[in-house]
Amino acid sequence: MDKILRINMSNLSVSSEEVPASWAQLGGRALTSTIVSAEVPPSCHPLGPNNKLVFAHGMLSGTTAVNTNRLSAGAKSPLTGGIKESSAGGTTAQMLAKLGIKALIIEGAPAQDAWYRIHIDKSGARIQEEKELVGKGNFAVFDAMGEQVGKKCGCLSIGHAGEFKMTGANISVRDKDGKIRSHGRGGLGAVMGSKKVKLISIDDTGCKGITLADPEKFRTAAKIFSTSIVNQPGIAHGMKPFGTAMLINAINEAGALPAYNFRNGQYPNHEKVSGETMRETILARGGEPSHGCAPGCAIQCSQVYVDEDKQFVTSGLEYETISLLGPGCDIDNLDQIAAADRLMDDIGVDSIEMSGAIAVAMEAGILKFGDAAGVLRLLKEEVALGTPLGRVIGCGAGTTGTVYGVTRVATVKNQAIPAYDPRPIKGIGITYATSPMGADHTAGYAIGPTLAGAIDGHKKDGQVELSRHLQFAAAAVDSFGICLFADMAISGDPQCVPALVDMLNARSGENKTAEDYIPKLGSYVLKIEHEFNCAAGLTSQQDRLPDFFSAEELPPHNLAWDFTGQEIDAFWNF
Ligand code: SF4
Repeated sequence: MDKILRINMSNLSVSSEEVPASWAQLGGRALTSTIVSAEVPPSCHPLGPNNKLVFAHGMLSGTTAVNTNRLSAGAKSPLTGGIKESSAGGTTAQMLAKLGIKALIIEGAPAQDAWYRIHIDKSGARIQEEKELVGKGNFAVFDAMGEQVGKKCGCLSIGHAGEFKMTGANISVRDKDGKIRSHGRGGLGAVMGSKKVKLISIDDTGCKGITLADPEKFRTAAKIFSTSIVNQPGIAHGMKPFGTAMLINAINEAGALPAYNFRNGQYPNHEKVSGETMRETILARGGEPSHGCAPGCAIQCSQVYVDEDKQFVTSGLEYETISLLGPGCDIDNLDQIAAADRLMDDIGVDSIEMSGAIAVAMEAGILKFGDAAGVLRLLKEEVALGTPLGRVIGCGAGTTGTVYGVTRVATVKNQAIPAYDPRPIKGIGITYATSPMGADHTAGYAIGPTLAGAIDGHKKDGQVELSRHLQFAAAAVDSFGICLFADMAISGDPQCVPALVDMLNARSGENKTAEDYIPKLGSYVLKIEHEFNCAAGLTSQQDRLPDFFSAEELPPHNLAWDFTGQEIDAFWNF
């Protein structure tokens, strides 16, 4: 029987509860947002004891279905001031599902000045004081857990940034090979730091695993789902060989790169940092161009990036990081971008937020555009050490802009805009503006339909409706525990949605329809998140893009952002 595991850090107690009936059929983002909405006062300080950090695996996590082992983390965000859900790969979703832990809720905060580790296994959870790993980066924590708990152990941890409660801090997740994935966005690492939890180690040895209501039906549907994903051309010929970095050349072609802090949609040296160049580099050095970060990954969009001496540098080097730090900051050297990515993983900061903050620091004259050595120094000697400058940068693009009086700051709800300029791909601009998460490309990925030619990204027609449709789907997919990239197969293959519905019904024993699972669940999630944000004091004025997107036309298409507030607000008419 699944349970809710509650950890109270105020009195260092652990309790286990029955799952309330209204939560029983939820998972992932639907569950974290439901719990945060129900239990966190919207007006609370996000780094105070009244905020709660909630982890929930997806509705399909722990099953044999491919690409279903995403973990959602939720809380009130110290970065945006609104509700936050951030999803990550790695092994912890599968482990929590197998242990029968539907949600893990960490609440309160200790009065004493000490750090703690939470260990979870089949006998329950224990809180113990942690001294040895405090002040250490995420790589050291994961290595230590591999030795202490076992090579296959799961782990969630914070690095230096989380300990300093920087609002750009993330939560790292150990992957199946001991490498790092992240709950990147929204400063959830600072929330974990505010609870004084350095790490959560998980051991699922000896647990029984999950029960399916209809195993035969599940097996049949899971096979169709898997075949559909494996055969999807964009996955087989794009995502798998090149990772998300395959987008560098495509987005350059579309004129939507964030080059020079969103001054140009194209970058002359884009080939040097492209997915194709990354693959060639990795292959020439004996690394792995395709790598799965979670059990049962059929897509393998991650990679193992090695240096010239074949030594591991980083994994999960994503389009967003490459594009914002590369074209965005005029750094055209993949090795230097990979080195920065490694540092950000180790320090435990969101690479989108940090790349945005670094671009703002360049605007402020702290660094010159193109100064890769300066970026590495800034991360190592300022952010990791928590110097005053490091804390400013570590708190993200918005804080850096405020402190240095820079107005060219690409954020929405104080969260850095990802690596697609919204002027030539207008649907993604609607997503940035309206998502309750703040600027977040994964919340309604309008890039896919635009690149596929299903909609003209330069025109406003249909973009609000497209973003709404995609945000419903993303909220549902984040609740199922499915990788966003599997969405390519779900939307491109007519057999895939029925198979997905069969899997969900066979897992839960329900008899729901596609309509129930996608638009209804998705709209429910968005509505409760929006209500939380309104109660927290966010208004429609925060559903806006920064002024410079409207004031400046972006080359090469010379387009400006031209949605009115009223047009954007129509998003919420559902
Ligand atoms: S598709 Fe990418 S993000 Fe998803 S599990 Fe595989 S490697 Fe991880």
